[in-house]
Amino acid sequence: MNKGLLSVDEALEVLLAGARAVAEIEEVPTLEATGRVLARAQVSTMDVPPMDNSAMDGYALRSADVKAPDARLKVAQRIQAGSTGAALAPGSAARIFTGAPIPQGADAIVMQEFCAVDGEYVIVKKVPQPGEWVRLRGSDVRAGGEVLAAGARLRPQDTGLAASVGIAKLPVRRKLRLGLFFTGDELVMPGDPLPPGRIYNSNRFTLNGLARTFDCEVRDLGIVPDNLEATRAALRRAGAECDVIVTSGGVSVGEADFVKPAVEAEGSLLMWKIAMKPGRPLAFGRVGHAEKAAAFIGLPGNPVSSFVTFLVFVRPFLLRTQGIAEVAPRALSARADFDWLEPDARREFLRVKWNAQGGLDLYPTQDSAVLTSTSWADGFVDNPPNRAIRKGDTVRFLSYADFYG
Ligand code: AMP
Ligand code: MG
Repeated sequence: MNKGLLSVDEALEVLLAGARAVAEIEEVPTLEATGRVLARAQVSTMDVPPMDNSAMDGYALRSADVKAPDARLKVAQRIQAGSTGAALAPGSAARIFTGAPIPQGADAIVMQEFCAVDGEYVIVKKVPQPGEWVRLRGSDVRAGGEVLAAGARLRPQDTGLAASVGIAKLPVRRKLRLGLFFTGDELVMPGDPLPPGRIYNSNRFTLNGLARTFDCEVRDLGIVPDNLEATRAALRRAGAECDVIVTSGGVSVGEADFVKPAVEAEGSLLMWKIAMKPGRPLAFGRVGHAEKAAAFIGLPGNPVSSFVTFLVFVRPFLLRTQGIAEVAPRALSARADFDWLEPDARREFLRVKWNAQGGLDLYPTQDSAVLTSTSWADGFVDNPPNRAIRKGDTVRFLSYADFYG
């Protein structure tokens, strides 16, 4: 299996079978928990809202006291959010504001727009329904109910929900430590002059940014020259500090490709040719030994290939290692507004962009060295092997937004 051409799904299955979730759990203040992966489900100990309260600024009253429009009720009290009122005497009303507790005896709120003040009285111009504009205790969350499931990345609204039930700290998985390095004697960092024959190390920016998007603690070792000793040394350094190591370049079988022998010398490795375009070679292995070994994924050096293979393989691997249950990106059915008449025999990830008509346009060059295509696009058409696409066809669209979410 290691030698032949593997499908994306076969490779993903082997990869994910080797992903072990980071075991350590830490408590963090709820305010700092956005982006972290929740380690244990959270159950509310309280009702939310904790008391019946007003959904409007207006008057709290007994609906039975207003049988017809223009009823006149004495305003006996004023209840603001954060205070509590007294029981409401029959035939009276309470001036009330949004979020203020409903006084005992009241069963409806009339919006202030339907009331007129007359000295100590209020004229109620509209007959209220029982329960109108009252938010009932527990109508959002009930005590004993689960508010957040384990194994998902916390979004801002999730931390808000935890806070609404009084949870001040949340148990999350330790951040995943991801080591990165970039092989290639041709690579130069932006800011340095570019000698003849050299190129800038764009993958460092793409992969580093992706790793941060997935909330990793990144150890970026930068450029590693094309020789065995330097590659082994970088692997040992990254392996000692990290849970996962991701590299770009040097995984072909050319004479200047040292990733394979280096990983074999420092651990163990599977080399795959994957039936996908872009991004054919992929390496998967371990660096170091037994318990302390780090997972290793070697991506191709081509900028588009490394970007696509990161999203297709590294992303789900990182998510699993972070303890996230659901790792498949959501796919949408979308309309192709282009022809793609010479499909490849490999599964293709075509760079496409939404147009104003709600269809997808294709970037004119699908060459795996043209990084502009990834920056222009909104996502990929995930095209099965040998499938020609004609204008108007329904295609499987993978949005960047769904990968990053
Ligand atoms: P490799 O996988 O090392 O054979 O590299 C394949 C192609 O990707 C070559 O044209 C490399 O120059 C290019 N490449 C490799 N690494 C990078 C990088 N970090 N940034 C930009 N291009 C790269
Ligand atoms: Mg190279």
